[in-house]
Amino acid sequence: MEEYLALFPYTSAAARYVEASTRTFESFLTVGEFSKLILNRSVERVTRAISGDTPASLIERDDYEVEIFSYVMARALVSCINETLLIQRYANAEAQDAFDNLRHADEPSRDEYIMSLLEDFRMPVSVENDAFRLHFTDFVKYTGRLRGPQWRLVNLLNRGSVTLAKGEIIQILAEAVRLKVLSGLPLKLSGKMCEELSPYTSPLKEAFSQVSSHLVDSGPVVLEACPPCIKALLSQVKAGRNLSHPARFALTSFLANVGMKADEIVRIYETSPDFDYDLTRYQVEHIRGASGKDYIAPGCSTMETYGNCVESDGLCKRVIHPLSYYRVRNKRHEGVQRNPREGPV
Ligand code: SF4
Repeated sequence: MEEYLALFPYTSAAARYVEASTRTFESFLTVGEFSKLILNRSVERVTRAISGDTPASLIERDDYEVEIFSYVMARALVSCINETLLIQRYANAEAQDAFDNLRHADEPSRDEYIMSLLEDFRMPVSVENDAFRLHFTDFVKYTGRLRGPQWRLVNLLNRGSVTLAKGEIIQILAEAVRLKVLSGLPLKLSGKMCEELSPYTSPLKEAFSQVSSHLVDSGPVVLEACPPCIKALLSQVKAGRNLSHPARFALTSFLANVGMKADEIVRIYETSPDFDYDLTRYQVEHIRGASGKDYIAPGCSTMETYGNCVESDGLCKRVIHPLSYYRVRNKRHEGVQRNPREGPV
């Protein structure tokens, strides 16, 4: 049970656990080993939402309470920062973790998690041979952001219900998680509480504004303006090579940030040997979000860390982010020249 609460800390069961606990919010702001663990993990949760490239921590048995309470604290952090885009990205990051946790869980735990989450989100289903029959109103509620013929109600509706495979139910649950996390945010917290959290929120705010400052205005995508690292990743995919997770995230988020549509991004991955349409579609939709900017592509230092900064050229010496490279090159394409003496961009 504790593992379920730790993996899915936004459920009603987790909320009841928190309510019944003697631990208070204020106690996490006091000095102590447990408070430190909670605060560090909550900062990690928000950092992951900002950068998109920090893997979720593996949960050890002793960490169950840290997972549960750090979720509560992470909600407080994003509420004090109070940036709509960050709140959306935070909800996306929790949904992505839910999706990954469900996909990677072993049987029979996975089935137990799925059934518990369906119950928690009040989605009654009947199950037969791994096929889930779901009422059409729940289907409509959670598939608004999903694209593709398999999500068209007219193709699926049968006597008021739709029948879905397990992988599709997991996608619906991830969307239910996203909406659940978003609900109630930002929390109404006192100025005093946000003041006390400021040692944690200030660096997060700074990181978020830095990442956001690299965003480019979307327009027609100019592939020639892409930096060498992105061109290299595109060539690898075209040559039929599978990309590592960080490389795939870098490529997808970059293309989404410069305005490429989800369909076009999915098509790029069609030549990958491990291409799985549903999974790719979900990941692309998730990273892209409604605006194309839910996640911002990693900067040059992160690209370098994962070995994805390759074939750098002269302009690379003046940029600290692949999107800045694109912005400069794209301007040149439009005939707008930058002053060559300008510093890093
Ligand atoms: S320096 Fe930055 S933009 Fe240039 S190749 Fe490396 S990661 Fe890409």
